[in-house]
Amino acid sequence: MERKVYKKKQQKQQKFEHFEEQKEIQNDWGKLEQVWKQKEQPRVIYNTEQDLLIVEENEQQVDSSNIKMSRIILWFRNDLRLHDNPIINYAIKHPAKNKQVIPVYCFDPRFHGRKVKEFGTSKCGLVRQRFLMESIENFRHNLEKIGSKLLVSNDKPEDFIKNLIDKDCENIVVYQKEICSEEENVEKNLEKSVADAKFQKFWGSSVYHVQDLNFKINQLPRVYTSFREATSDVNVRPLFPDPKKDQLPFVLNPNAAIVEASVYMPKLEDFGFTQEQISKGKDQRSVIEFIGGEDAALKRFKEYVYETNAVSHYADTRNELLGALGSSRFSPWMAVGSISPRYIYHKVKEYEAKNPLYQKSTKKLIDEVFWRDWCRFWALKYGNKIFGVYGYDFERGSSMYKWDTNPAIIKRWREGTTGMPLIDAFMREMNSSGFMSNRGRQIVASYLVLDLNQDWRFGAYHFEDKLIDHDVQSNYASWNFAGGIGPSKVLRFNVLKQSRDHDKDGEFIKLWVPELRNVPTEYIHEPWTMPKNAQEQFGVIIGETYPKPIQCAKYTQQGSADYQSKPNYQNHRQVFTASSDGSHREKKFYQKKNP
Ligand SMILES: Cc1cc2nc3c(=O)[nH]c(=O)nc-3n(C[C@H](O)[C@H](O)[C@H](O)COP(=O)(O)OP(=O)(O)OC[C@H]3O[C@@H](n4cnc5c(N)ncnc54)[C@H](O)[C@@H]3O)c2cc1C
Repeated sequence: MERKVYKKKQQKQQKFEHFEEQKEIQNDWGKLEQVWKQKEQPRVIYNTEQDLLIVEENEQQVDSSNIKMSRIILWFRNDLRLHDNPIINYAIKHPAKNKQVIPVYCFDPRFHGRKVKEFGTSKCGLVRQRFLMESIENFRHNLEKIGSKLLVSNDKPEDFIKNLIDKDCENIVVYQKEICSEEENVEKNLEKSVADAKFQKFWGSSVYHVQDLNFKINQLPRVYTSFREATSDVNVRPLFPDPKKDQLPFVLNPNAAIVEASVYMPKLEDFGFTQEQISKGKDQRSVIEFIGGEDAALKRFKEYVYETNAVSHYADTRNELLGALGSSRFSPWMAVGSISPRYIYHKVKEYEAKNPLYQKSTKKLIDEVFWRDWCRFWALKYGNKIFGVYGYDFERGSSMYKWDTNPAIIKRWREGTTGMPLIDAFMREMNSSGFMSNRGRQIVASYLVLDLNQDWRFGAYHFEDKLIDHDVQSNYASWNFAGGIGPSKVLRFNVLKQSRDHDKDGEFIKLWVPELRNVPTEYIHEPWTMPKNAQEQFGVIIGETYPKPIQCAKYTQQGSADYQSKPNYQNHRQVFTASSDGSHREKKFYQKKNP
């Protein structure tokens, strides 16, 4: 009797705490309900072919006879490199007799130091901000080595670049085209505000040039394997030559504002990070030390491919959770453009020609790099639909899913306090080091969306905040795929099986979840099954020093009672049994609609 009363009291208390926590988060995040009802984020959707991007190719047919001086403003974005850079190549090849080349980078306040209230995240978290600033510093240094400079500003590009226009010159603003609408809006604003200039835009962020695809973008094959088959004959363009000293002549007599911007570099504090956060520095447990910049990117490439020959075992080790050489870890540098995807392609192909024995691995690595292309083209085809709660096919998605937005669960997932050791280790690794393996990303995404039934966008926005390799296209497309609203079969992972398969002895878990460091292997994957006396012996009390697992019928009947299975659980099972190209799922859907 006494026990019953105590239990009831405890449940009431838990309920109250849960409610309080929820209230707090709800206040923080704004009206979650509104978010839930929102079909899509307010971004432009590409509907027709006219809406689709047209990339202008530079014909370089400038009649410079009447032009006193050409001022070429190179606006850098996610292309922070000297090698294989189309906009640098444009400036070098520009035929004007007299030219000034002004490289510029803007820490746009719409992307830096900004919170995304609806999802309770930052647009660019501390670890990524630091990595990006290192990338800019290194890029500036490399530009200076060839006699140029880099102007850096905290203003919006449309506000900063208009001040660089010289009425006595022919002004040309050159930049690499982005394809998602927030980035495109910046381009539009820039073109509006800098009316006196010409604009040249280049494609430069994928292995294939978008204009070389042998289909129109709205005919992009539905699944990745078909995309690879369809593009197997497409040539990858050669690399642009590296710029040489004095090929990018800077302004001869710069004004005071230009001089100031050529040495300016913001501090992390300027983006709202506190001294306490900043002083923690980089996490030494990171899988490798990620240092931003082209120098570090090329060094990593050299190390991974030539010095350690690690690329030779990529196919077998790519899912390893610990150690520097399992997978390439190129993604953070690719995200900011410090290494060109075409460079990776051509150099790995060269290596492959000399080392045919390792083809299994080199082909696999290149295949993964093409996944990145696929994500880009997918985003280009579907535009803003990839940000919508039900992805590219709202009708289909909404007939299959009804996700929750439980703030307490989302918070625990984000912080790595779910009570599921592998999930917590992955999440803490990402929060702290800015990186998580591909396998980790798949598992935590599957857990959040398919096991805990939470709106995938709360995961995607968190990734955008924390990952140093965040790339809009790869991130949102991958979340679409992981959440079951992409075209292919959705992979539903069993966290406990993955934990045993990929972290047999719990080494990775113990590294990132030190509360469990003394727990023996037999309990490390499911510590809640440990008897009380063992918990005391191994220095962890479940529910006190390490949380009870979020209740999820698949893994445990116990837990903190804050998650209840939803009836639409069945839908996920249907998805799980879908055929590999998704046709089964589609058939089922259409059968349901048109019996
Ligand atoms: C939910 C989710 C979110 C993701 N978000 C991002 C993101 O924001 N930025 C990002 O670059 N990748 C993202 N990925 C893809 C992938 O996880 C990372 O590219 C990979 O883990 C990076 O590690 P690596 O460089 O060692 O990759 P490797 O295995 O060495 O692969 C080489 C390169 O190929 C590309 N690549 C590999 N796998 C993928 C993939 N599945 N999709 C797209 N490109 C791939 C990357 O550029 C990578 O650097 C995400 C995956 C998931 C499941």
